[in-house]
Amino acid sequence: MDKISVVVPCYNEEKVISLFYREMKFVMDKMDYVEFEIILIDDGSRDKTLQIMKRLQAKDERVKYLSFSKNFGKEAAIFAGLENCTGDFAVMMDADLQDPPRLLEEMYHCLKSEGYDSVATRRVTRDGEPKLRSFFAKRFYHLMNRISKTDIVDGARDYRLMNRQMVDAIIEMKEYNRFSKGIFGWVGFKTKWLEYDNVARAAGETKWSFRKLLFYSFDGIVAFSTMPLGIASFSGLFLCVLSFISIIIIMIRYLIGVKSAHGWSSMTCIILFVSGFQLFCMGVLGQYLAKTYLEVKKRPIYIVKEKCL
Ligand code: UDP
Ligand code: MG
Repeated sequence: MDKISVVVPCYNEEKVISLFYREMKFVMDKMDYVEFEIILIDDGSRDKTLQIMKRLQAKDERVKYLSFSKNFGKEAAIFAGLENCTGDFAVMMDADLQDPPRLLEEMYHCLKSEGYDSVATRRVTRDGEPKLRSFFAKRFYHLMNRISKTDIVDGARDYRLMNRQMVDAIIEMKEYNRFSKGIFGWVGFKTKWLEYDNVARAAGETKWSFRKLLFYSFDGIVAFSTMPLGIASFSGLFLCVLSFISIIIIMIRYLIGVKSAHGWSSMTCIILFVSGFQLFCMGVLGQYLAKTYLEVKKRPIYIVKEKCL
């Protein structure tokens, strides 16, 4: 009998965990030909999330939990779940039922019968999401796919069922700055995409503010593309050539006796532009350096305070 591990990151999800379990139980009862384990990861919640997890665990021994010492972020929670799961297959699911557990049966059959290594899902609509957020999300995926060799799919969710081989490959990637959508693409393997319409959150509210998403997108770019470094050096080179040409033009004008106007204002503009641009490029360098700095420290990705596995 195959075993599926369901990895669920939860951060302040007291309102939805029980709903999630109820929905999941329905699926587990229906798919009685596979064994299940549900690994709930409490990502440093400050509400009753952990108590509810413990209650569920007492009721159903297939439920396991891990509780972090503080909020380490969804990426860390997914990593912890994958590292501690024992199934032949693993699936990540949000606690808020935006990743409908009922799709799991279809996903499992795709994996078993069509020879794929993983089945991933993508939302084809973004209904119910703020318009501005959808707009920036679209721009981000467009940009990302132009500047990174890793395939990052627009609307892709982290909801994905994978076989053991792929899970092990992902656990092997112990980087501190984790960007799952990039990591899944990077490890390769044959992936089938299932599409579905956006589902609204069952209860509670989103943990991602616009600001958090913006910084997350910067993380994604720095983690999976070195293009900004290339742009910085290329533009530096371009400006050097441009200034060299202008020096020659100025010298020729001087030699043939053309008097220069007192152009201090244009000079100021040029100095401002060039020094501003230099600072910008240094900033880009700094971004990569900062990430490298965090990586070489080799800090643990998460710290467990309590667990029941
Ligand atoms: N989450 C987490 N740690 C965080 C933020 C979110 O574990 O720091 C979990 C959250 O509990 C949920 C999932 O990640 O299960 C997705 O979060 P959310 O629904 O808030 O994001 P959205 O669907 O709005 O993008
Ligand atoms: Mg959600």
